[in-house]
Amino acid sequence: MSNLPIKQLVHDALFQVQGSEPSELISCLNCHQAITASSYRIRIHDQHHHRFINPGGVIYDVCCFHSAPGTIISGEPTSQYCWFQGYRWQYAHCEHCTEQLGWYYENDHLESFFALIPSSLRSKN
Ligand SMILES: [Zn+2]
Repeated sequence: MSNLPIKQLVHDALFQVQGSEPSELISCLNCHQAITASSYRIRIHDQHHHRFINPGGVIYDVCCFHSAPGTIISGEPTSQYCWFQGYRWQYAHCEHCTEQLGWYYENDHLESFFALIPSSLRSKN
């Protein structure tokens, strides 16, 4: 499966992010690459911020964004251990330093969002 349509979407969105106020940018904590923006925050299942525990007992905090232009998406889509019912997930990495920043979710209705780990991001706000 090709990631090209997603990649195009990502770069279109990145162009828009760069035109917005710098204070709205949310960056990779590791390399400071712009990842997303506060204006991209969305609520999934009525919450922006979610807390999950994986099968190994590790707690994850994630925040939902409809776009994360600074990420690359990798891995085959899977619904295994999926935190959001009806969605399949892939990994979302920083495009610059490849640090994993969260996950990309998509469902059968082509609805998609990013769930990003706040402790791996920095905001100038
Ligand atoms: Zn990075």
